[in-house]
Amino acid sequence: MPRKLAAGNWKMNGLRASLIELKHLEDKHGDADVDILICPPATLIGACEDTPFDIGGQDCHMGESGAHTGDLSAEMLADAGASYVLTGHSERRTDHHETDEMIAAKSQASYDAGLIAVICIGETLAEREAETTLAVIDRQLAGSVPDGADHENTVIAYEPVWAIGTGKVPTTAQIAEVHAHIRSRLTARFADGAHMRILYGGSVKGSNAAEIFSVANVDGALVGGASLKAADFSPIITALE
Ligand code: PEP
Repeated sequence: MPRKLAAGNWKMNGLRASLIELKHLEDKHGDADVDILICPPATLIGACEDTPFDIGGQDCHMGESGAHTGDLSAEMLADAGASYVLTGHSERRTDHHETDEMIAAKSQASYDAGLIAVICIGETLAEREAETTLAVIDRQLAGSVPDGADHENTVIAYEPVWAIGTGKVPTTAQIAEVHAHIRSRLTARFADGAHMRILYGGSVKGSNAAEIFSVANVDGALVGGASLKAADFSPIITALE
């Protein structure tokens, strides 16, 4: 069984004062038997060095260095204390026009810097309504996940775009169908695909986490809004433990 992972994506939220939330989380889950990952804004990565939790970036550039104003390389994130990085989050795909090819290059750059890439995939509402969800998943998996992926350097996060920040959650049957599909594609392509972690993301809360975690092939969650406060993230971690 892959080791469970509760990942929080703070997005563009958080000042140094917000780090008190990690202290509160540490009080309850400092020795948790699941992996806990916090992806704060990059400005806070260095300030997280005392936390027992894994720390991740929310994005990285595909290059090693150079004239890319405002961008951060995977090596810089690692140097600041990150061990993970999100790649291909739907907000990056939409707001920054990131393509599968770019996401594969960013994920490869992450591997090269020794980071674990959490590669995000998921369909839009229009794609679900057009019944193309599994085709979209296939295209994103084939295009965004490098050939060098394995269970140690890669986590897949299935995040239906229509469920992110909306309070709408797919049925457990819908989650089960997509996660089983992802698992079958991973095992077909990678020798250790059975051990690669697949997270569900999209409006996970304390009240729905246990039901989502009961679904086969759900190895944890990528959580946005409910990861900002320890009081909201803690019940999700508890449901995973
Ligand atoms: C996300 O942005 O990855 C996410 C899952 O957000 P939320 O939990 O707020 O839906």
